[in-house]
Amino acid sequence: MKGLKNGMSSVSRRNITQRLVVFASHLPSSSSSSSDSTSMASEKQAALATAPSDADAPTIFDKIINKEIPSNVVYEDDKVFAFRDINPQAPTHILIIPKVKDGLTGLSKAEKRHFEILGRLLYTAKLIAKQEGLDDGFRVVINDGPKGCQSVYHIHVHLLGGRQMNWPPG
Ligand code: 5GP
Repeated sequence: MKGLKNGMSSVSRRNITQRLVVFASHLPSSSSSSSDSTSMASEKQAALATAPSDADAPTIFDKIINKEIPSNVVYEDDKVFAFRDINPQAPTHILIIPKVKDGLTGLSKAEKRHFEILGRLLYTAKLIAKQEGLDDGFRVVINDGPKGCQSVYHIHVHLLGGRQMNWPPG
């Protein structure tokens, strides 16, 4: 059958590979002083292990939106869903995603019809930052493609805060 081998689709394989790399990144490192660089390396590994998906291919985020996989939800409306990142890179690390992907696997795939949802994602980041008490500042990040360290191909805004950010980013 097309797309199936050993009873598992390529999308399932990709999701499993991606989840294994994310889970591996949660394991304690052998040296605590190297934990930051280990975490960064794991994020990069996760990104490189994940091939850019087809526009309609489901990702782990579909299961999170449908509550098939539990997540710590911080905001939800009819268009947008936001939950805490499983592998936080700051005391506050929240992912803000559109409920309907509509081809927006990443920012580089944005088209004119996405104007409104892109604005909503950013405006929601501002609302959540307020809700989280990030009054002294925060950062929003959108990773795009393998070189941008994107590992899940369903557009998402990272909202990071609760610590001093550095510049330039890695
Ligand atoms: P990206 O690397 O694509 O910009 O970000 C994907 C993010 O999704 C990563 O920060 C990763 O930790 C997070 N993530 C991956 N799988 C899960 C999951 O099952 N639950 C949650 N809450 N976050 C996840």
